[in-house]
Amino acid sequence: MADIIDGKTIAEDVIARVKQEAATLAGSGVKPGLAVVIVGEDPASQVYVASKSRRAKECGFHSVQHSLPADTPEDALVALIGELNADPAIHGILVQLPLPGHIDAGRIIQTIAPGKDVDGFHFINVGKLGTGETASAFVPCTPAGAMLMLERVRGRDLSGLNAVVVGRSNIVGKPMANLLLAANATVTIAHSRTKDLPALARTADILVAAVGRPEMIRGDWVKPGATVIDVGINRVAAPEKGEGKTRLVGDVAYAEASANAGAITPVPGGVGPMTIAMLMANTLTSAFRAAGREPPA
Ligand code: NDP
Repeated sequence: MADIIDGKTIAEDVIARVKQEAATLAGSGVKPGLAVVIVGEDPASQVYVASKSRRAKECGFHSVQHSLPADTPEDALVALIGELNADPAIHGILVQLPLPGHIDAGRIIQTIAPGKDVDGFHFINVGKLGTGETASAFVPCTPAGAMLMLERVRGRDLSGLNAVVVGRSNIVGKPMANLLLAANATVTIAHSRTKDLPALARTADILVAAVGRPEMIRGDWVKPGATVIDVGINRVAAPEKGEGKTRLVGDVAYAEASANAGAITPVPGGVGPMTIAMLMANTLTSAFRAAGREPPA
């Protein structure tokens, strides 16, 4: 059976370090500040935003939440981001996605100052990651967290290893592939047009699933001994728990895959908790940079 890569424990380690480093920085007069902006009432987004703000407070950050009505005009949101860009007490700005349909999310992301773009979605940060300038980039939180989990199992240098990333989104798949490449893995990105995905997946020493399809990746797609990172979070019906009940599953058929993998991330309790922890780490990094100090490794 595969070793379980416990995201909860690793995320708690990250948070503990962030808290400690934030206290050090506060000693020199700078308190990391995170502004979270949410537009509308989407219940899942409300839950994410509340936990981001709670974690920020727990880390000793200056934490600000802006909750705007669903009919907020795009220009009003742009104006708010402009204020936050100019506010020296704010080091990280996060606009919760998805935004209501009348707002151009692309424009909003590009409005955030690259130096405060702790989600790592601004073109400047995307470009830095793509050109290997990872030291000064903000790396998107989910793939950054997935890399940290991978590091625990495989170390920092992935030379000689084949990695297959299933999914090519700008938020997960592409940045994940760039991070794996920067760590010297030989990387293939698969997507909905890929031919014979099971055969390709079986070549992977490191298999990353970021698809959004419950348990699509079956056990016999996993090479014996491979490290499997399951980014997927899917809510499915769980009639065994009672009528109308649901449970969370990943993009990987966990029980089957565990029989073949060397190590695997569970869902829940895998990559999920890492995302918020990395958001805190990115905000801390931004505050160190603003203070003219070298961010902690
Ligand atoms: P997207 O929907 O943006 O991207 C999904 C990708 O999967 C696309 O590239 C798509 O290919 C590919 N895909 C879809 N169907 C298939 C298929 N049958 N075979 C091969 N590839 C396929 O999703 P995200 O990247 O935003 O998210 C992926 C998953 O990760 C979701 O479950 C999401 O909930 C989860 N997630 C988890 C986070 C966390 O904190 N742990 C954070 C962000 C996301 P194509 O491009 O060709 O359409």
